[in-house]
Amino acid sequence: MDLTDRDRLLFDRRHLWHPYSSATSPSPTYLVESAAGCRLRLRVDGSSVEVIDAMSSWWCAIHGYAVPELDKAARDQLATMSHVMFGGLTHAPAVDLGRQLLAMAPPGLEHVFFADSGSVSVEVAMKMAWQAHAAAGLTRTTMFTIRGGYHGDTFSPMSVCDPDGGMHSMYGGLVPRQVFAPRPPAGLNRPEDDPSMATWRLETRRLFQSHADRVAAVILEPVLQGAGGMHIYPPHAVRFLAELAREHGALVIFDEIATGLWRTGTFWAADRCAIAPDILCVGKALTGGYLSLSAVLATADVARRVDASPAGAMMHGPTFMANPLACSVARANLDLLSGHDNPSRIAHIASTLECGLAPARELGPVRDVRTLGAVGVVELDRTVDVPALTRAALEDGVWVRPFRNLVYTMPPYVCSDEEIGTITSAIVAAIAKVHG
Ligand code: PMP
Repeated sequence: MDLTDRDRLLFDRRHLWHPYSSATSPSPTYLVESAAGCRLRLRVDGSSVEVIDAMSSWWCAIHGYAVPELDKAARDQLATMSHVMFGGLTHAPAVDLGRQLLAMAPPGLEHVFFADSGSVSVEVAMKMAWQAHAAAGLTRTTMFTIRGGYHGDTFSPMSVCDPDGGMHSMYGGLVPRQVFAPRPPAGLNRPEDDPSMATWRLETRRLFQSHADRVAAVILEPVLQGAGGMHIYPPHAVRFLAELAREHGALVIFDEIATGLWRTGTFWAADRCAIAPDILCVGKALTGGYLSLSAVLATADVARRVDASPAGAMMHGPTFMANPLACSVARANLDLLSGHDNPSRIAHIASTLECGLAPARELGPVRDVRTLGAVGVVELDRTVDVPALTRAALEDGVWVRPFRNLVYTMPPYVCSDEEIGTITSAIVAAIAKVHG
């Protein structure tokens, strides 16, 4: 039996959970008919409309949709094998992608663990850090991080998400207890000798010292905290936290799931920080938004120490580890990315976003407008009416998905100036219409 679009929407409404949503009284969802270039074709009120995707499908689809090179990589790989287990077997897509990733990685990273989502890669990174200390007895089991972060929705990553944003209290004693320093003062270019930085460093150092012998690792999203609140902070704060970890024998984990692959204007956000991590997580844009794949990169020292733990090996092994289809598409994605002059194209997007969002500063409810690379954020002084704002932007031909008090865009890198202009003007107009 062929269902109509109406039937499907009805079934969706009655039976399917969407992210962070109610199953019994869900918010509206729009049926996507297709996606190509920077555009989604949606059904809105019974009509088919084309809108620009300002979200890159939660920051993944950096080259847009129906990308010929990625389609071809998937098709070619399907002709060979779509999946085989990784226990005891290996294959060209995994080896080639591993080589590519290590060649692009910050210095010192030599080992790759493929996982199936961002959250799982953070689980693996945390387990690596715990195991790396385990040879010396399980005394270092705590993570040190900063408030305002987001690292995923499974329990260990959730434990290092902001305690309020991550709703730790709702899960009671189930979320492991970690140590949270205050969020570093805002601003990419805030000087290191700014008095607010000195106060923050003092407080953070004191806090770290009072837990130092228990800390396994410091975990951070360098320079930009994404889903925890789109907070931009200076690279010297990242360096300070990493150095603090090392002074006290803890490891450094960078979560570059949102920031990696040029999103913030450098290949890794860590490239601005003049410090390399011991462990790095990459996901989201790794397959250009085609398939779910993440990777954890680690130094030789971490790998050696993990092997010296009582388990004698890294104790994790997902069913879909190094899925060949995903690895092949990721390989093509990285090739495609390296064929572009990314520093100038991201700088150009940054200035187009900056200009386009500037008028939002004049709007009453707007508290801040900030940009970093291909990320543009408008912060309001109130919670966004998400269904109304989404609808208003759709009427101007743009798909956005605000959260809390933030309306933001992370567009595909291949958007034209005109498309970025349409995104920014739709965001400004929607805020004025819904909250003005
Ligand atoms: N870390 C960061 C920095 C993220 O932005 C996200 C996803 N928003 C995750 C981890 C979790 O990734 P996933 O949703 O693929 O599990």
